[in-house]
Amino acid sequence: MVKRDVIVVGGGAAGMLAAWRAASLGASVTLLEKKNRLGTKILISGGGKCNLTHAGEMEEIRRQFRSNEASFLKPSFYRFTNDDFLELLTSEGLKVYTRPDGRIFPVPPTDAKDVVEVLERQVRSVGVKIRLDCPVEKILIEDGAVTSVQVNGKALPCTRLIVAVGGSSFPGTGCTGDGWKWLTELGHTIVKLTAALAPLYLDPTPPEEWSGVALRDCVLRARKLHPDGSTGKERMHWRGDLLFTHKGVSGPTALGVSREVAEALPEDSTVEVDLYPDESFEQVATRLRVQAQQNSKRTLLWLVEDAPLPERLRKPLLESARLDPAAKCAQLNAKDRNRLASTLKGWQVGRVRAVPLERGEVVAGGVALDEVDSKTMASKKIKGLYLCGEVLDIAGPVGGYNLQAAWSTGVVAGDSAAKDAVE
Ligand SMILES: Cc1cc2nc3c(=O)[nH]c(=O)nc-3n(C[C@H](O)[C@H](O)[C@H](O)COP(=O)(O)OP(=O)(O)OC[C@H]3O[C@@H](n4cnc5c(N)ncnc54)[C@H](O)[C@@H]3O)c2cc1C
Repeated sequence: MVKRDVIVVGGGAAGMLAAWRAASLGASVTLLEKKNRLGTKILISGGGKCNLTHAGEMEEIRRQFRSNEASFLKPSFYRFTNDDFLELLTSEGLKVYTRPDGRIFPVPPTDAKDVVEVLERQVRSVGVKIRLDCPVEKILIEDGAVTSVQVNGKALPCTRLIVAVGGSSFPGTGCTGDGWKWLTELGHTIVKLTAALAPLYLDPTPPEEWSGVALRDCVLRARKLHPDGSTGKERMHWRGDLLFTHKGVSGPTALGVSREVAEALPEDSTVEVDLYPDESFEQVATRLRVQAQQNSKRTLLWLVEDAPLPERLRKPLLESARLDPAAKCAQLNAKDRNRLASTLKGWQVGRVRAVPLERGEVVAGGVALDEVDSKTMASKKIKGLYLCGEVLDIAGPVGGYNLQAAWSTGVVAGDSAAKDAVE
């Protein structure tokens, strides 16, 4: 048996799983991590709680990705499923639970820290050599095959190399887009990088006192903004909670529309909130008419008391419908009423100024999927090179999907590199 060296670059979600699997299969594996600990991005995932994966059939999970990404992920999602990953954690004593929306988390008080600890234990238990504070500078190749990686100017030889360096958001986690630079030099195509699952910065910024205010279960809709200021076709909408920040909006709805907004020019989009996603414009307008008729002496501020928004936003909502909050319901004519109903169904909260890539939970774009074998994660350009995780052109929605993509592609890369390495 010839045992060749496998080097894994990047000790995040995909890299840890790749190293674990390759070493479990008998390969001699070294894991090189730039930071002084493993899994820095996992530690901040899910606000530190870590949404590990999503419950349900892998087919359903796969369908949450765009169709080219879903096709690419099919083999790895079936090779290493959500249940396989959970088994890895629970076999080490970590308990997990599923929220009603299908998102799976460690049972509190355990959290992302415990997840990284369990994974690190697994990685160490199969004999992976871990080198921290070890930023890889370059991939070296000869005759179209990997020969080594360069660290501190020195070449570390390997015959199989797994690149699992993630994307470039939250650069403090060590993810600074290094992989894309190396892989471009090696002839890979990098699909345009844009923010995804990111907050939206708005113009004008919301008033200071709105910062931290949340809207529950609304729909945030992004629309094309024409040069004359009129709004056009919908780019994307997302239902859930919305949080006003000092720069714009965040929360699941903002994250949910961010990729489509970033892919179109962000400045060409505007966002509006539907506070009554289960009702039509006509239903809202009719209710306003009946309530206003029955309470003619009350004010318009009273009329929106039942609207699903915090008290401090009621006046601003009426003002953006160009209505006086102190006016009496009796004064509300049909035109005003329709304007109020339109505002409740599509409250303009601002035009988008930017979608900050570095603040996204993931980066959309990355190594073109048709240049990687989806069954093995092997590069079709360079022999001995495997790619997994966010470095690839994959970006799923919020819900544990992105980590599952990293776990599954990591395991497949580890599998293939080890099988190729151990003869
Ligand atoms: C704030 C936030 C919250 C998130 N929450 C969730 C969530 O709850 N659920 C979910 O499914 N997804 C979540 N994600 C997304 C998820 O964390 C990523 O999709 C996933 O970590 C990608 O895995 P990866 O292994 O490809 O990259 P990473 O986990 O980012 O790992 C890459 C590793 O490579 C190292 N590295 C980079 N360059 C080099 C180099 N030159 N040399 C050596 N090492 C290098 C980095 O230091 C890093 O440790 C979240 C992301 C963020 C930013």
